[in-house]
This record gives sequence, C-alpha cells and structure tokens, in this order.
Amino acid sequence: MKQVAIIGAGAAGLMAAEMLSQAADVRVTVYDSMPSTGRKFLMAGKGGMNISHAENFEKFVTRYGTKQAQLEPFLTAFTPTDLRAFLSELGIETFVGTSGRIFPKEMKAAPLLRAWLHRLRSRGVQFAMRHRWLGWQNHDTQKLIFDTPTGEKIVTADVVILALGGASWAKLGSTGAWVDILQAEGVQVETLKPSNCGFDVEFGEFFKNRFAFQPLKNVSLKVGNFSQKGDLMLTENGVEGGLIYAASALLRDEIEKNGTATFYLDLFPDKTHGQLLQKLSKPRSKLSNAQFWRKQIGLEGVKAGLVREFLSAEFLNSPEKVTDMLKNLPLTAIAPRPIDEAISSAGGVNFSELSPDLMLKKLPNVFCAGEMLDWEAPTGGYLLTACLATGRAAGLVVLSH
Ligand SMILES: Cc1cc2nc3c(=O)[nH]c(=O)nc-3n(C[C@H](O)[C@H](O)[C@H](O)COP(=O)(O)OP(=O)(O)OC[C@H]3O[C@@H](n4cnc5c(N)ncnc54)[C@H](O)[C@@H]3O)c2cc1C
Repeated sequence: MKQVAIIGAGAAGLMAAEMLSQAADVRVTVYDSMPSTGRKFLMAGKGGMNISHAENFEKFVTRYGTKQAQLEPFLTAFTPTDLRAFLSELGIETFVGTSGRIFPKEMKAAPLLRAWLHRLRSRGVQFAMRHRWLGWQNHDTQKLIFDTPTGEKIVTADVVILALGGASWAKLGSTGAWVDILQAEGVQVETLKPSNCGFDVEFGEFFKNRFAFQPLKNVSLKVGNFSQKGDLMLTENGVEGGLIYAASALLRDEIEKNGTATFYLDLFPDKTHGQLLQKLSKPRSKLSNAQFWRKQIGLEGVKAGLVREFLSAEFLNSPEKVTDMLKNLPLTAIAPRPIDEAISSAGGVNFSELSPDLMLKKLPNVFCAGEMLDWEAPTGGYLLTACLATGRAAGLVVLSH
C-alpha cells in the first residue's frame, strides 16, 4: 500500500486528500501543526466565504497575472463550475452574487468543512494534528521529521504533498517556516510578500484621530493603468479594504522600486469635474465651507476631511482647487502593512522548480500545491479556487504515479 503524507490541512491539502481518498491502494495521512484542520479556510468563511468567481473563464484566468500560464492548466481542469459541482456533491449549494462572486448559500465555511472532513474520514483518510513538519531526516525525502506533543517523530512516506500555505495570519498555522527547509534542499523560493494587504499612509494626527476606521465609499482609485471603483477603509496607519487590496500588488511593487507609491482617488466618480465645479462656483453667501460643500454637492464627513487634510487652507475657498482635489486626490503609500496582516502572500516556490505536474524537480516524489506556490491573485474567490485546483492536481498525479 502506497503511503502518502500530505502536510498542511488547508484547502489545497484537503483537496489533494480528496483525490487520493478515492484509491484503494493508497493510505493517506494529513499532517498539520495546528490542533485542528482548515483554520484559514474557516477564517475566510467569516468574510462570507467567497469561494470562486463566475465571470467568463477567459477573464477569470487573467486574474492570476504573470502566473496565468502556469496556473491555467490546473484551473482548466477544475473550473469555477467544477468547483460548484464539487460543493453541491458535498451537500453545499452555492450562489452567484451580484458582483459575480460565488458563495455557499449559508455564507459560511464551517458546514462545508464539516461535511468534507466527514467524507474524507469515512474514506479512510487519517489526520495527525499537532504535527509540525521540521524537514527531512538526512535529506531522505521519504523520512519526514515532525515535532509532536510527545516529542520528535520520524514518519516514512512514499510520496509527500506539501500544502503549507503562505505566511499571512501566522496564528492560523501558515507561518512560512517551510521556506528555510526547502531552500536548504536547494529549491528556489521567491520571498513571501504581503498580497491583498493594507498600506501605511502618512496622515496628520488630527485626521487620524477623527477618521481612523471610517469607510470611504464609492470612490475610484487610479494608479498607473489601474483604475477601479469601490470602497476602502481608513485605518490608524493608512488604508485597507477591497479597493486597496485590488491595487496592492501594484502599490507594493512600486514601493519596492521607488520607496513610495502615489495613487489617486476620485471622491465623486459619478460626477464630472465640470458638474462639481459648476456647483462649487455658485455664490456661497455667508455659508461656511462645510455648510456650502454639504449643500452644493453633499461633501461631508471623511471625504471633506480628506480635502482639508490635503488642500492648503488658503485654497479651501477656491472652487477650482477643491474640485481638482475631489477628482484627483493624491495619497502616498509609504509601506505595505506587515505580511501577517495580509489576506494572502505573494512569492513562494518558483514554478521553474516544479514539473508540469507540480513535483519538485530536485526532490522526487515531493509535490507542492496551494498558496505556497509563487502566484498571487486579487480577492474575489480566485485564491481559494487556485489552491483547490492545484491541490486537486497534486492528488491526481500521485494517484497515477
Ligand atoms: C481573513 C482572510 C480572509 C480570506 N478570505 C478569502 C475568500 O473569501 N476567498 C478566497 O478565495 N480566499 C480567501 N482568503 C485566502 C485563502 O483563505 C487562502 O489563500 C487559502 O486558504 C490558502 O490555502 P492553502 O491550503 O494553500 O494554505 P492554508 O490554508 O494556509 O493551509 C496551510 C496549512 O499548512 C499548515 N502548516 C504550515 N506549516 C506547517 C508545518 N511546518 N508543519 C505542519 N503544518 C504546517 C498550516 O497550519 C495550515 O493549516 C482569505 C484569507 C484570510 C486570511
């Protein structure tokens, strides 16, 4: 009987187990350092569990940017439609939201995980929790060393699937400690960096005290060729939220290159410059700026605060200057928030180290899947879909080996 060790009980590892659990001549054990499975998967469920996206597949695969070519075969073999069918078979019905995002009807991960684990166990998959993988004994890829509550343990496996995740939210298990282990075996791993993350922006103390943790709704963000409408959140350090995450790879790379990254907000994307200017040019009689802005264009709260923060006081009475600021407010990101706070990680095992079926060329019979591979994607269900698709591929190839 072939012994397969899957290390990492997240989306990718469980999907690999799913594939292997269907074979009679394979014994599958899933190891994880945490006391229970799928901690990050459950955390994703807290945000509604956006598991995939229903947009046209040609568009869908472009979301993986420079790694589209590497991921496309796995995503073609396991499309968002296949993912929905898989969930349905588990008893989890899904729906497509107005934005095209796919969610389980219950908007939760726990029922899905429960049903899935139940099926895996009933098919004989074993789970060994509180097993922290430390590497290989004497570089022998069949001899895995685990730190367990009863001390160090050596486990022998014919095949190993690594599904160790990235390095965000370390308290959920994915610490990125595997990077050193693989690098010590000569595997090229791209530095893990924050992806879908917030950024530090220098705001004055008054502004921070007044507006931290307030949402900034219905704005448009521009940086380079990127332009998107959405919402963001002001934090005590800067900005975060969906719209910022969507631009985060661009901002992060720009900061890496030039030290800072300036992006531009249009605070009234549904009104033209001319429309705003016309209203702000009306006579204001004795109204204060705050009263006049509110009356003419509904400018108040955090949006008005941003104008006051970035436009010098001498120009606050100038309709032209205020309009310019409303349509093109520059914010300078000075650093991405630490990787631990990010939704996901960029970087990971370089695809050149992998065979087309995800085996490490330098370590025969060792496969990799999920977020630990060198790709990134925006939020929108793209992350989980690619983790599941690569986990599936690794499981299937081990079956056929
Ligand atoms: C707050 C939040 C919300 C999110 N929301 C969404 C969403 O709505 N949609 C979406 O698509 N994506 C979302 N994501 C991202 C998504 O959850 C991850 O990309 C995905 O779960 C990664 O799956 P994975 O199996 O590759 O890794 P993980 O789920 O991180 O699993 C890796 C596992 O390996 C284990 N491990 C690591 N090192 C070791 C070791 N040395 N020994 C033993 N075990 C080890 C860890 O304990 C962990 O269980 C969200 C992420 C966060 C943090």
